Amino acid sequence: MDREFGKLIYAIVKPPARIISTSRIYSDEEYNLLRKEARRHKSYLYYAELTEKEGKPDVKQPWKLDPDSVYCREAELASYKRPPRPHRDDSEEAIEERINTEPSISEKTQETPKESLQEPNPLQCPYCNKVATSTPGRTLHIKSKHPDKYEEYKKNQ
Ligand SMILES: [Zn+2]
Repeated sequence: MDREFGKLIYAIVKPPARIISTSRIYSDEEYNLLRKEARRHKSYLYYAELTEKEGKPDVKQPWKLDPDSVYCREAELASYKRPPRPHRDDSEEAIEERINTEPSISEKTQETPKESLQEPNPLQCPYCNKVATSTPGRTLHIKSKHPDKYEEYKKNQ
């Protein structure tokens, strides 16, 4: 970002709209100090152009958010990065298809699970041995077969 220090006025603003301080700055050092200060207050920097009105400095609205002061979004987003998906098609279409092609639950309640029984299966119904082919499938199963447990199950999701 191209900053014309001296022509701008900076404000430290604590979300949603509390102005902590305003200041004019003239160098990168001052700007960096200001940014640290904003960070310390968990706040962002806003800036506006300074003009002159009848010989006095005047702030030209509107205040704009300084994108370089927005630090925590990036950190948050980085922490949300998930590991690569397992080798399995979990697109919405695929899940929907699995739900649609799942045998009718009322006809085959105790059918042999299709998936491996070697390891505990997170898709297994916690109330019986039924193994669903997808999480939405398991939800459907519980809703239909264990309606009294459904609320409890949803709470634990
Ligand atoms: Zn069940």
